[in-house]
Amino acid sequence: MAYAGGIGKCISLEHLVQTNTLVGLARSTRARSTKVDEMYSVNRIIHERHGSVVQIERTENGSLLTPYQAVNRAIHERRLWMESGIKKVRILVDEQVLTPKQAEFWANEEYKSLPKCEGCAKILNGDVVCHQLSGSKLFCSTVCADKDYLEEVEKRKDEEEIEYL
Ligand SMILES: [Zn+2]
Repeated sequence: MAYAGGIGKCISLEHLVQTNTLVGLARSTRARSTKVDEMYSVNRIIHERHGSVVQIERTENGSLLTPYQAVNRAIHERRLWMESGIKKVRILVDEQVLTPKQAEFWANEEYKSLPKCEGCAKILNGDVVCHQLSGSKLFCSTVCADKDYLEEVEKRKDEEEIEYL
């Protein structure tokens, strides 16, 4: 893993290691970028056990960024499908059949588990950045990473001053 400098540990989140992560050097100060590509797709399928289901899947090339968007789309698809005459349409996530209410609950839990930018709390997707002093923190952009880097440097300075008092 190419890395200039010695202190940083960019990818400590297991979540990120499990997904496809690409590591490269970012332009900014001491930031390094990795890649997180997890989105959602919603598809109508005929499931061998559950019949007509609207399936929510995690996928690299999904068009839906948040689990809330995925659930909204699934509920919408379900309604359209039922309007076309299908009596029972279920929502399927992780091979589990969920009611719309349960799907909303799932979205909440799923959202909590997603990696987010330590600077602005945005869901991390696509390029993810860390810096030499960031430890396990990850950022959505070099802007957020640089800001945090400067704060870390200031913090360290303060600590050093205290030591000399
Ligand atoms: Zn950010």
